[in-house]
Amino acid sequence: MSNLDYKKATFLLSVAQLTQLPPDEGFEVAFIGRSNAGKSSVLNRLTQNLKLARVSKTPGRTQHINVFVLDAQRRLMDLPGYGYAKVPPKVKAHWQKTLDTYLQVRECLQGLVLVMDIRHPLSPLDQHLLTWATACNLRVHILLNKADKLSSLATKKSFSEVSQFIENISHLVSCQTFSASKNTGLVELKNRLDMWFID
Ligand code: GDP
Repeated sequence: MSNLDYKKATFLLSVAQLTQLPPDEGFEVAFIGRSNAGKSSVLNRLTQNLKLARVSKTPGRTQHINVFVLDAQRRLMDLPGYGYAKVPPKVKAHWQKTLDTYLQVRECLQGLVLVMDIRHPLSPLDQHLLTWATACNLRVHILLNKADKLSSLATKKSFSEVSQFIENISHLVSCQTFSASKNTGLVELKNRLDMWFID
């Protein structure tokens, strides 16, 4: 049983710059992933609020960090998706720098949930992020989402390939399969978040 009530998550604000974030206190867990991997669907599933992450899709807001609060001490951070072909290189470079800084300096950040499409895991950008996050001593939990798109055999194969890959990087990285559509893997995800939020 999860100890925290993720249904209580409410939207707080959307920021374009790190200076606009709430004070660096309490506990944060951030969600990130290549665009279209299903990050919004995962957040909606976790909080059982189908509208929650819609704000991240608002035009002009795709490069913002959306902050959701669980309670006075705990926040879920929805980071911009990466890999959009249409984002101009200058904007991409700016966001990359902002993200690198956020991961490096944000003391209340407990861990990163990295959402991947199980059919296309570990893109070069995913790998860059893993390397950078672990260099910052940050825990990363990989969600291999859209598991419903694969047979159970193919799901196991992808899971074991990713597990093998992360074993060689750092003990700070874990992974699981997930399906936002079919609602599988939610208990495991909540347990991980509980650990990060409560320890
Ligand atoms: P985001 O860009 O990472 O926030 O991705 P979205 O949550 O908007 O999802 C992108 C697309 O993938 C949408 O059409 C979703 O319905 C679909 N999707 C998300 N999660 C799943 C899943 O677990 N299974 C399947 N089959 N489709 C999913």
